[in-house]
Amino acid sequence: MVNAKQTGSWITLGAYYRLQVPDDPIVGFIEGDGIGPDIWAAAQPVLDAAVARAYRGKRKIHWLELPAGEKAVKMMGEPLPPGTLDGIRRCVVALKGPLTTPVGQGLRSLNVSLRQLLDLYACVRPVRYLSGLPSPVKHPERVNMVIFRENTEDVYAGIEWASGSEEARRLSEILREEFGVSLPDDPGIGIKPMSRRGTQRLVRRAIVYAMERRLPSVTLVHKGNIMKFTEGAFKKWGYELAAAEFADQTVTEDELASKYGGNVPPGRIVVKDRITDSMFQQVLLRPEEYHVLATPNLNGDYLSDALAAQVGGLGMAPGANIGDSCAMFEATHGTAPKYAGMDKVNPGSLILSGVMMLDHLGWSEAARLVEESIRKTIEDRIVTYDLARQMAGAREVKCSEFGRAIVEHME
Ligand code: NAP
Repeated sequence: MVNAKQTGSWITLGAYYRLQVPDDPIVGFIEGDGIGPDIWAAAQPVLDAAVARAYRGKRKIHWLELPAGEKAVKMMGEPLPPGTLDGIRRCVVALKGPLTTPVGQGLRSLNVSLRQLLDLYACVRPVRYLSGLPSPVKHPERVNMVIFRENTEDVYAGIEWASGSEEARRLSEILREEFGVSLPDDPGIGIKPMSRRGTQRLVRRAIVYAMERRLPSVTLVHKGNIMKFTEGAFKKWGYELAAAEFADQTVTEDELASKYGGNVPPGRIVVKDRITDSMFQQVLLRPEEYHVLATPNLNGDYLSDALAAQVGGLGMAPGANIGDSCAMFEATHGTAPKYAGMDKVNPGSLILSGVMMLDHLGWSEAARLVEESIRKTIEDRIVTYDLARQMAGAREVKCSEFGRAIVEHME
């Protein structure tokens, strides 16, 4: 996969999975299908320009293309060649456009396969308002949260059988005869596995993230009042982990009341929990009280999109899938095939995923430069069609022009 002409140096992992990043890192990229090439062509120059300006040419990303999706099928006859997986592992960090799962290739979803094969167990979605964006709420600027969604367990594990299938029939029989549980006639059945290990590695990442950025709280979001041994266990295991590994850095809401008179001891992160339905109200009514959310898979899926809508929609929502040995940053929208090749769509989600990637590399000066330039570009009302149709007096530009405008606003 890596040809002899590839320039740059490899990123390596140090103790506690800390990245060791050279000034000329090789970073993998998957261009993506559909609108992938359009948004990649707009995003890459923005990230390169920010790095060049922030470090005056001392640092530079050396991009390594890793084929996946339709492009890989054309080149190599399969959508996810082993070389691409090895390439992501070798690069440690990759940026990815959206992928279509080619019909008839035997994979349920390329994206899910990538996450499972690379064990990218934390789906990380920052949700923050960029001034100027259209929003359906009165105070979108009060939202500033990062969601850590467990990525490998829960009802997404794909353990389910259709109504009328032999497997569902047999399982119903076993449940009735051996466990005394009777189900309705002919049910479809899905299984919701959640483990201590899966929960705790996710919660650990969420707490470390809050510690590194000095954020005030981590909230465990669960529906444990109903699903006691899955969602309820998520809450229990989360608190256990905080007490076992971060006793000096965290404090629970109960301890705040019983030991500290309601005042957070300096430098401590408050670990709290909320029932999922109440959390949906909280993010609308009191968003400023929440900073990092740790959630099981399904809760996180719903909350990520609901929160993205509060700050202007999915077109600008960045995301990352992170494991212990590598991380993949990706646009959260799909391939929007009807717009492919039209140079029309919003590259904001991929660019902001690139910002997350720069922060992950520790290159925060470049990350802030991109963020600031996007903010100025939107404040000048230079936007792509999706935002233009919601903003009075906006100048609608193409995908590539939006990218160029961001670079110009860095000057
Ligand atoms: P989609 O590709 O996200 O597109 C749905 C709509 O969202 C578009 O028609 C467009 O709305 C808007 N949109 C999406 N990206 C946009 C952008 N960059 N700028 C502006 N507007 C944007 O969802 P889909 O049509 O359900 O899925 C299409 C394919 O993408 C499927 O094959 C699916 O499997 C795949 N997919 C991949 C990923 C991934 O790789 N992570 C994620 C989701 C879906 P308007 O038409 O209203 O303008």
